[in-house]
Amino acid sequence: MKRITIAIDGYSSTGKSTVAKQLADYLDYVYVDSGAMYRAITLFALQKGFISESHFNKIALINSLEDISIEFRNDDTISVVEMYLNDKNVEREIRTFQVSEYVSQVAALSEVRKKLVTIQHQMGKNKAIVMDGRDIGTVVFPEAELKIFMSAKPEERASRRYKELIEKGDDITYEEIYKNVQERDLMDTTRKDSPLIKAEDAIEIDNSELNLEDQFHIILQLAKDRIVGRV
Ligand code: C5P
Repeated sequence: MKRITIAIDGYSSTGKSTVAKQLADYLDYVYVDSGAMYRAITLFALQKGFISESHFNKIALINSLEDISIEFRNDDTISVVEMYLNDKNVEREIRTFQVSEYVSQVAALSEVRKKLVTIQHQMGKNKAIVMDGRDIGTVVFPEAELKIFMSAKPEERASRRYKELIEKGDDITYEEIYKNVQERDLMDTTRKDSPLIKAEDAIEIDNSELNLEDQFHIILQLAKDRIVGRV
């Protein structure tokens, strides 16, 4: 059967990773959460003290990039893939609100993007991959057979993210999350290098009113059409 590349881009907290994982499981494809890679670099910068509330030492981070190893690993005991930063499992740490607050500044650096896009190309060289992010259909895999652009109302996205973080035990308010979602959207859509933008040939899906099952079936059908060559 034809192996394809599926690119899922969109604003923050639109549920890209949920549907990307569902598709990858169903099709037995590799799933890559490219946001986790930008989050891992941000965590590194925070741990090294390159980022503080008042200052971001971009040069120090850029000079350290070659010392950063980023890897998705599958722990044998569970079937999920988790993010490792310099051999340490950081899956939980990269999802904190603190990382979300700074990640878009880090993702705006061309040197960071260059490093991560090189790794992403490597991961996708055999196709049979579903990757989600902001620039997957435009920059990373412009030749992807299926490109989806996900959107949803900002209030809906903020309340989804709020529930997720509260369940994890984060001490955070809805207002803080709402502000973060809006700030990240603004930074991600206005940065110079690889801004978040819908690829011309991407199919837009607004899931404000869609349940997960319907959304999955709509996108799966689009994927199947391409795999069997109907499109
Ligand atoms: O997908 P997630 O919300 O975890 O991504 C975190 C951040 O990483 C985004 O807000 C964006 O700044 C950055 N990112 C990016 N390009 C990607 C994926 C994520 O710039 N392909």
